[in-house]
Amino acid sequence: MKSRHNGTAVDVLPSDAQRGGTPFDDLGLAVSCREPLSHHTWLGIGGEAGYFCEPVDVEALSRLVTRCHAQRIPFRVIGGGSNILVPSAGFPGLVVRLSAPSFSRIDVERPMLRVGAGAKLVHAVSAAVQAGLSGLETLVGIPGTVGGALVGNAGGHGGDIGECVREVSVMLPDGTVETRTGSQLAFESRWSNLDDCIIISCRFELDEEDPERLTKRMQKQWIVARSEQPSGTRSVAMMFKDPHGSSAESLVVQAGGRDLRVGEAAVYAAHANYMVASSKCLSDDVRALIELVRAKVRERLGVELTPQIEVW
Ligand SMILES: Cc1cc2nc3c(=O)[nH]c(=O)nc-3n(C[C@H](O)[C@H](O)[C@H](O)COP(=O)(O)OP(=O)(O)OC[C@H]3O[C@@H](n4cnc5c(N)ncnc54)[C@H](O)[C@@H]3O)c2cc1C
Repeated sequence: MKSRHNGTAVDVLPSDAQRGGTPFDDLGLAVSCREPLSHHTWLGIGGEAGYFCEPVDVEALSRLVTRCHAQRIPFRVIGGGSNILVPSAGFPGLVVRLSAPSFSRIDVERPMLRVGAGAKLVHAVSAAVQAGLSGLETLVGIPGTVGGALVGNAGGHGGDIGECVREVSVMLPDGTVETRTGSQLAFESRWSNLDDCIIISCRFELDEEDPERLTKRMQKQWIVARSEQPSGTRSVAMMFKDPHGSSAESLVVQAGGRDLRVGEAAVYAAHANYMVASSKCLSDDVRALIELVRAKVRERLGVELTPQIEVW
């Protein structure tokens, strides 16, 4: 969820920090100050979060969200950090990570699977396959959490996560929880309408299938997914969404963009829709590289690519 108060609350934070406290002290929750977000992102770069918390349950999350709403403190949820670019200046508010067990539960309720938003997507896929429930196996190999996947309707050649979603439990900025179903949910290519809330959990409706056959299919899919991603480094990011009917990778190659680099950020030549960051890379290098590649594709091919990675 993106806070609607981004521009207004920054001045609240330093004064609280100077007094040695935080705006959350009376809530009895473990909120830390100046957490390096580079520890929580795939690229391993970016500045600090003013405040950081991993709430134990929905009630604790609600107290944090309500406080941010009341005091106009910017707020963000971080999932696996595989699709975000944090600026060097960091994020001047509270960042929450749903890593506690209560947000990562996976329950089989045939033919449904109920999954917490903090669960890793790969764990949800494996649980479904083991239970003989098909539909999610095409998502194997996509990094991150179920929450992050739902926000961006993650997917690939075989389908998107949104196709299997029947119900999503979300928290609103005032700390209340609601369930969204049917026409309240919208999923399009790498987009969903779940960007105005915190996703807490979801229910997937899946199909019964022989677990052995399903496992074999998932393994094949896994091999394909791995062969399409950079190997040997975790400091990678997917740069662009695939435009309708074509692939971002082929457009970058056609435009002659596979050897581009800015500072310590470079296009990964073997899979040109990814970029890799070396250890001294700055967020600005990544931003500039993405803009450079985008400009090259625009100039040479007349196609406007949409960035996949989200800049905080
Ligand atoms: C090697 C590699 C391969 C990839 N392959 C694919 C692919 O094949 N297909 C694809 O679609 N993507 C792919 N991606 C992109 C990325 O993995 C996906 O977008 C993924 O779903 C992001 O999940 P995350 O948990 O890491 O989200 P994050 O990067 O942590 O967050 C992404 C957004 O979701 C929000 N968010 C996270 N959790 C919640 C929550 N509980 N409630 C509300 N908002 C939340 C964040 O605030 C942020 O706005 C790839 C990335 C990499 C690095």
